[in-house]
Amino acid sequence: MKYQYKAPFNSILLRYNEIGIKGGNRWMFERKLLDNIRTKLTDIPNLSFYKDRGRFALVHEDESPFTEEELNKIRTALSKVFGLESYSLGFQVEPYWEDIHETILANIESVYEVHNAACKEGDMIPYRTRSRRSFKKFPYTSNEIEIMLAEELVERWPNLKVDLSNPELEVGLEIREDSAFIFFETLPGPKGLPVGSSDKVLSLMSGGIDSPVACNKAMQRGSHVDYLTFHSHPYTSKDVLEKIGKLVDICDTYSDKPGKYFACNLVEAQKMIRDRCIPKFRTILYRRMMMRIATVVSRMLKSSALLTGESVAQVASQTLSNMDTINRSTDMVILRPLISYDKNETIQIAEKIGTLETSNIPAPDSCTTFAPKKPATNSKMHMITKTEKKLDMDDVIRLCLKDTVLIDTETMEEEEVPKLLEIFDKHFADRWEVPEDALESPR
Ligand code: ATP
Ligand code: MG
Repeated sequence: MKYQYKAPFNSILLRYNEIGIKGGNRWMFERKLLDNIRTKLTDIPNLSFYKDRGRFALVHEDESPFTEEELNKIRTALSKVFGLESYSLGFQVEPYWEDIHETILANIESVYEVHNAACKEGDMIPYRTRSRRSFKKFPYTSNEIEIMLAEELVERWPNLKVDLSNPELEVGLEIREDSAFIFFETLPGPKGLPVGSSDKVLSLMSGGIDSPVACNKAMQRGSHVDYLTFHSHPYTSKDVLEKIGKLVDICDTYSDKPGKYFACNLVEAQKMIRDRCIPKFRTILYRRMMMRIATVVSRMLKSSALLTGESVAQVASQTLSNMDTINRSTDMVILRPLISYDKNETIQIAEKIGTLETSNIPAPDSCTTFAPKKPATNSKMHMITKTEKKLDMDDVIRLCLKDTVLIDTETMEEEEVPKLLEIFDKHFADRWEVPEDALESPR
């Protein structure tokens, strides 16, 4: 935050941008944004929402000022609400010049002092007033207001100089028909679209750095995210589930509501792959199995896409030819928001969203169970088909689905999900069995 002015602010002006262009659906985006803000601020008493074209404001029902503690809570909450372009802490008053003028004069001194204290003898403080007036009957135009205020303030503090392009001290005014809003600072929001305004997605969640960042990116485009992780108990410890539960909780601080967290034991599939298939393809075959299981879970949750933290060529399984063979295991869209990211960029985002520290706790990765010494970096469908023919596909998927649980991240209690088997039998039986006469020669 740039300045952190302290004043008895009684209103927070919220601006949104991208959702403003959604035409007929605009009301839905606006409602979602408001709902998401409201859910994050339930512990602020007597909070009410003021709404006018293209703007919202938060106020106390009795219009009393927010306490410093409340303002801190609000800043923290708003930094995690996607859909918010920017916001300003300020004052909401009646739309009369006397009230506006009085409020500016009563509060600008402390703001001026912040700049004056930081400014060397003889330096000038660049200043600007910017006013927007949609209340056309207001007696002064925006231009007149800006001139009146500049004259008054510069006379009072001779080290202020008007600078329209690069101001440090700014007085912002929005004058509407039923109220006026005064502010001195505009803070950036997290942008994007409100979570819940786009279709839901199911994240394939490993304990690494990338998948939580991918979740955050999907949320930024408005998707609610549910989570599915694969482990290989007893070959890998179940402790990793707790670590991923923590990551899920951190990811969910950006969400509209907590996502569901599922864990599937992939070990039966991994054993069959180890015993029957070509070793160098194991990682790809594990991934294809993960995609199939995720497809069944998605069907239950009604999610519209799968989500991964893959980026091109980061590791052996993430070459384009391997992604292609992985894609062909499901007809669902696989979203890979980090596809072009450098690891360093991802690490920076992970740090910003608060997942990096937890991701860095060492934990075994299910994919390393029985991992081949030299995994294939180039796979083709005819090779994969040939080796997958050896699997009892439906049987092994059923075993994995039977060993899939829903986890409560608070208590780490596990709940069985028998519905997954029902869904598999009803919609997916035979879908992934490789027929005896499947094509094995290159396309
Ligand atoms: P991450 O940092 O997210 O673990 P990574 O760089 O380690 O990624 P991989 O291990 O190849 O890369 O995983 C790529 C993606 O595949 C992950 O981001 C995740 O979406 C998915 N994935 C990998 N392992 C698992 C797992 N055990 N459970 C669920 N998804 C997984
Ligand atoms: Mg990983």
